[in-house]
Formats: sequence, C-alpha cells, structure tokens
Amino acid sequence: MTKDQLPARLFTRRRALLAGAAAAGAAGGAGLFTSFTGDEPVLRTPAPAPAAGPQARPARKPSAYRLEPLMGYGPPKAAPRRTLVRRAPLLRVSGRGRRMVLTFDDGPDARYTPYILDTLREYDVRAMFFVCGEMVVDNKDLLARMADEGHVVGNHTWSHPLLTRLSRGRMRREMERTCDIIEESYGERPAWFRAPYGAWNRTAFQLGAELGMDPLAWTIDTLDWTTPGTGTIVGRVRDGAAPGVVVLSHDAGGDRSQSVRALRAYLPRLLDAGYHITVPERHYA
Ligand SMILES: [Zn+2]
Repeated sequence: MTKDQLPARLFTRRRALLAGAAAAGAAGGAGLFTSFTGDEPVLRTPAPAPAAGPQARPARKPSAYRLEPLMGYGPPKAAPRRTLVRRAPLLRVSGRGRRMVLTFDDGPDARYTPYILDTLREYDVRAMFFVCGEMVVDNKDLLARMADEGHVVGNHTWSHPLLTRLSRGRMRREMERTCDIIEESYGERPAWFRAPYGAWNRTAFQLGAELGMDPLAWTIDTLDWTTPGTGTIVGRVRDGAAPGVVVLSHDAGGDRSQSVRALRAYLPRLLDAGYHITVPERHYA
C-alpha cells in the first residue's frame, strides 16, 4: 500500500492539519508536544508529507464522493487502537500559547452547520464537531466537508441517549454505529468521544477506550441550547476565555441561529485577543 493509493480527501485533511501544526509551531516555538491536564505529554509524530499527485487533485464534489467506494482502494480497516481507560473526561487542553478549542455538538444539521463551517473557513480556524450518528445519515456531505476543511469529528452517540441508563450492549451499539458512519463519511474513525448531557459512567469510559476514543468534556458551557440571546452567548465565551479552555456550543437539536450568529461575533474577538483556536491532535502513542 503506497500513499498514492489513499483517497485524496484524506490528504486534503492531513494537509490542513499539518498547516495547523505548522502555525502552532510558529506561534508557540514548538508544536510537536501537546498534553491534557493531568496527563503526560504525548510526543506528536508529524504526519508524512503528502505525495504531490493526490495533493494536487481538486476536492471531490459530495455527489462524486458518495458514489465512490472509499474502502475499495483505501487502507485496510485497522483494529481500533485502544486508549487508556479514564475515570473522568478531559475538561481542557494544555500546551504552549493561548490555545482554545471550539466544539459543536448534536449535529450536523443542514440548517446551521454550513454557516458555522463558513465562519470557521472565513477565519481559517479548525474546530471539533461531536456528531450524532442519526444526524449524519442525511448529512454525510457535511462530514466530508469537515474532513476537507481540517475539522475534527468526534462521537456523540447515535441517538443522544442518557448513557447511564443503558445496558452495556446498547451503549456499545450507540457508540460503535456512530464510529462506523463517521468513518464512512469523514474518512477516519473518531479519536474523541463525548457523552450526551455530560453523563459519563465507567462503562462509557471502558467502551470509549475499546473503540479508540478519548473522552472530552468542556470548560465553558455557553448554554446556547436555552436560546439566551446572541449577546449572552458571546458574553459567556468572552468571560470564560482563557488558555486551554474548551467551549461547548450546539449546531443542532433546535433553533441554533443564535449559536451561528454568536460565533460570527466572538470568533474574531478571540483571534484579536491573541487566542489560537485549534483542535487537539490525535494521540499516536
Ligand atoms: Zn449533546
């Protein structure tokens, strides 16, 4: 298997991630180390430089993407890497510089997610989307776009249940099906997991680790789902902004027009304040 045989879209995504890592390196002096609170620093292995051929190819249109059997010529399906079983989710990121992470849950939703993606693209910023499998079914093109534009997609279960009330088998199915549809539409299995309602238990941590995912919660809850007004959402992000902060917002699950408008207001302000809006790198250890 050579790199040339891999789908071009994966290289588009890697190129974006590499560009982000290069920017982090330029800003922070060294971009190869990252760690999370309470965790040992993890040595980041730079991804190999993409081959010139696939990199130069234009991104596929979503319609063409759907027709193409991704796994037909892609890499063999690897067993999910197992990660440490944690007892609590990560709440923030640490590392050099004024890093912040923006996360959007419960989508994708064709009414709101494209506008969030437009804003992120306008400012050349990468974010995280914790998607629900049942929302992905009719919006696979949005996950392909997230991959093309360098965003990180995490697993937020299939149907957004309260996990703590589910049997182990049902919980596994909620998580595993979502990993599968993310891989199918985004091109990679997710490395991150977030429990609906922030309701975690030991089984959720165990299954997440078995499926190769680290649990990520948040530092600031914008409570945007209560539709408190665009100004209130902007104020919560402004007041909570600090190095390492992870912001929770939603791009689905109700009327999210306030969340869309708030991002347009607070993102340029965070950038003006010197924050580097980034995504946590995958752990290769
Ligand atoms: Zn949620």
